[in-house]
Amino acid sequence: MYDVNMIRQDFPILQERVYGRPLVYLDNAATTQKPKCVINAIAYAYMHENGNVHRGNHFLSNCATQRYEEARAGISRFIHAHHANEIVFTRGATEGLNLVASTYGEMVLREGDIVLVSEMEHHSNLVPWQALCKRKNAELKIIPFLDSGELDLETYAQMLSDRVRIVSVAHVSNALGTVHPVKKITDLAHSCGAAVVIDGTQAVQHMQIDVAALDCDFYCFSGHKMYGPIGIGVLYGKQEHLAEMPPYQYGGEMVDKVGLYDATFENAPLRFEAGTPNYIGAIALHEAVRYIERIGIEQIAAHEKSLLEYTLQHLRKIPGVHVLGGQAPMAGLVSFRVDDIHAYDLAVLLDKLGIAIRSGSHCAQTVMAHYGIEGTARLSLACYNTCSEIDAFCESMPRICNRLQKVR
Ligand code: PMP
Repeated sequence: MYDVNMIRQDFPILQERVYGRPLVYLDNAATTQKPKCVINAIAYAYMHENGNVHRGNHFLSNCATQRYEEARAGISRFIHAHHANEIVFTRGATEGLNLVASTYGEMVLREGDIVLVSEMEHHSNLVPWQALCKRKNAELKIIPFLDSGELDLETYAQMLSDRVRIVSVAHVSNALGTVHPVKKITDLAHSCGAAVVIDGTQAVQHMQIDVAALDCDFYCFSGHKMYGPIGIGVLYGKQEHLAEMPPYQYGGEMVDKVGLYDATFENAPLRFEAGTPNYIGAIALHEAVRYIERIGIEQIAAHEKSLLEYTLQHLRKIPGVHVLGGQAPMAGLVSFRVDDIHAYDLAVLLDKLGIAIRSGSHCAQTVMAHYGIEGTARLSLACYNTCSEIDAFCESMPRICNRLQKVR
């Protein structure tokens, strides 16, 4: 039995009142709230287990190192990697994607080669590839999407050739909520020798991830969108790639032997973790993963699926509301606009009622350009959201829309 009220008790912030009203937090795609066990894990680590990792040989350093490496192993099991050494800790998805572009991308791309990304990417999975292609005189090509919110897979298949070296796409779109068929995308890319990078930032908290079964080459995500702390993220990379890739940053921890004019480097994953890593963040992210595992990712997925269906059903009944995309399989979020109303105004008035949603381009300006709009309103879900929160949102909407339309 999925007991959402019990789950809510794990998240202290959900008891907060905003402008005197109960908080209705529906901006989970931006960041999720944190359960007590994650907050406590941070405090516990600082109070009892804090020493710099991989350096000292004293008790606290060994303790922190052990927890840090346990976190790596726990996260590798969570996403079904073959080996813990395939997990590189980063600052977040943005750093993971930049790391792949500036190491693997820099290594394999030659002049005239092609990188494919989709028209529906977060800026973090577009701009690093733009910069890389400019540096290498390579070509960036864009897989278009259809108004339904799906990627145009027929066009994608036609764009593939032996000049395509890298395909990088989101697993779930942060702008439309579309779940892309990443297994099919990966198999097609591999059939012509391209490596596949998947931005799983909006997927890993909503569904079971199995990187081994997907067979993708890289997969990245941020801890803070999956009930973990800010400032920690994960890059999964196949061992064979990580073993070949040059370092990303240089400094302590990632070196083996250092002379005045030359240095040799550690093996992966340490080679990609220069300087003191955010080991407390990694330990707390591991706690977040264990929290998800205690509830069960399949149970979370089922709860969120029915909540998303409930949301779509009620949202579509509100006069003037248009859901963007929405015809394809979706997870976790819905993007919409309302006739004659700016999404920003909507979000500001909802906020006054204690309801947090997001408005704007969601760091996906190319999606907005596709529809010829400036932005959308976005409602995004987590394991602790309830039907009554969706009711509160849907009941407020007609009143707010009326008010805003009158002002005009
Ligand atoms: N990719 C996607 C799909 C995202 O939703 C986000 C965050 N909005 C990012 C990448 C970047 O994540 P971060 O800012 O945590 O690095």
